[in-house]
Amino acid sequence: MTKYIFTTGGVLSSVGKGTVTASVGKILQVRGFSVSAVKIDPYLNCDAGTMNPYQHGEVYVTEDGGEMDLDLGTYERFLDINLSRENNITTGQIYLTVIERERKGEYLGQCVQIIPHITTEIKRRIKEAAKRAGVEILLVEVGGTVGDIEGLPFLEAIRQMRLEEGYMNTLFIHVALVPYLEATGEYKTKPVQHSVQELRRIGIQPDIIVARAREAISGEPRRKIALFGSVDDRAVFFSPNVESIYQLPLVLDEQGLGDFICERLGLPKRKPDWSSWEAIANSMTKGDQVVRIAMCGKYAKLADSYLSVNEALKHAAAYCGAKVEISWLETEKFEQDPSSLKKLLEYDGVLVPGGFGSRGAEGKIMAIEFARKNDIPFLGICFGFQLAIVEFARNVVGLEKANSTEVDPDTPHPVVDLLPEQRGISELGGTMRLGAEPVLVMPNTLAHTLYGREVIYERHRHRYEVSPEYREAIESKGMVFSGLCVRGVRAEILELPDRYFFFATQYHPEFKSRPGKPDPAFYGFIKAALCKKAGKPKPDFSDPPRDYAAAYTAFGRRVQKR
Ligand code: GLN
Repeated sequence: MTKYIFTTGGVLSSVGKGTVTASVGKILQVRGFSVSAVKIDPYLNCDAGTMNPYQHGEVYVTEDGGEMDLDLGTYERFLDINLSRENNITTGQIYLTVIERERKGEYLGQCVQIIPHITTEIKRRIKEAAKRAGVEILLVEVGGTVGDIEGLPFLEAIRQMRLEEGYMNTLFIHVALVPYLEATGEYKTKPVQHSVQELRRIGIQPDIIVARAREAISGEPRRKIALFGSVDDRAVFFSPNVESIYQLPLVLDEQGLGDFICERLGLPKRKPDWSSWEAIANSMTKGDQVVRIAMCGKYAKLADSYLSVNEALKHAAAYCGAKVEISWLETEKFEQDPSSLKKLLEYDGVLVPGGFGSRGAEGKIMAIEFARKNDIPFLGICFGFQLAIVEFARNVVGLEKANSTEVDPDTPHPVVDLLPEQRGISELGGTMRLGAEPVLVMPNTLAHTLYGREVIYERHRHRYEVSPEYREAIESKGMVFSGLCVRGVRAEILELPDRYFFFATQYHPEFKSRPGKPDPAFYGFIKAALCKKAGKPKPDFSDPPRDYAAAYTAFGRRVQKR
């Protein structure tokens, strides 16, 4: 039987609920308990796939092709597990199911209502996720902030679950901000008190309060949170600022969180084994060298829009004993002022990540050209891969107006074109080529050195591809397609052997990178950037990570339902 730990958030969003939830999972995992996690998003979208990453953060792709909230990435990275599309529940999915059922006549005679029909469907999905995962503990994070209208049916559902599953099988953690007032130099607990009251009004009394504050605070503020939050003094924990988020599980467990949870849920008290996680968390902060990476894109304003890429860079840097400094460069600026490309010379590596649409695309192509000509280590991902093809086709193959049809539908040389199966698709939700697919790695290539295997399973999210008709012309000029799909037509990896490091992938390697287990493409990029910076010859990549999360989890893939 699964026990449930529900996390809610108070005061405002972005208090790190996802990281706290993932940390709680880690705390239980190092005690030998099996855990999985579910994220609830109270928006009406069926999934995150159609949302703007600039407003909502990146779209995280799961093994089975779910386009999910970025918290799923945090869970996968902390817990080193693969989650499925069913681990992200949204209001849109719930209503769609209930309304479809109503249309089929399955509720014949009944008035279909939020309570009980919507709440029952919410509970069904949570319990179903627990059953499928077959774990001892399921973490369920309720997105949004307590008090939001959208969140109410979910809070009502988890309130009922306390009654149905029993006190010893359910636990509520409330994560809320404790602001610091500069003027008076004190921490203010009133917002936390109010958000707990709001939670109680709906019928949920938290068992644990995690206060998000600049530092771990003791004394009066803690006493007040406990007293007015109606929890034991021992049930108040602090989530302070940490240098690396991977330290948070350790920081929380030092305060006694793990033992408190076990006691409260009647779980056997076990000594945690932190050895390997501690080493990983420490490696994230200890690097003595610095590697500077220029990320060239258009969603440059919000760091969360490329969260997994940022994390993958950090994992790879830590593996190489370094720290990474990431700068965001808006590629539209390169278009307006090409002389600003010179700025790229200040960096050890240039990364062009995934993206969509024509805005800023020319600037990305300019950045790729600059990196290639100046031999700055380059990593291209998805759109970055496609635009590297466009750049090479134009400037090396001599197809002057070559382009992707996504950027210029009338290009005379569509070197990147719509995937054949995409033609005729008009709906935009969940219709891309999505999820893990096998990639064949060609022998005697950099890709093979880095990955060390013939087949890898990598996650995709795209509509366009390199047109097979242009492959020969491109290859004849020295570009190597070192990764192909199983049928051999679809290009998945490209490299330029005459460059110091020029590597790009059609898939998204960032989604499989985990702390302590960096993705090999990111490892290669960072290692090359470090060696180049030190003035060393091309590295032989003799110590690539062999333990990376390459495994394929099929989850009984099924056709997506919208
Ligand atoms: N826009 C490109 C495509 O749809 C690349 C997508 C991406 O970078 N995720 O194929």
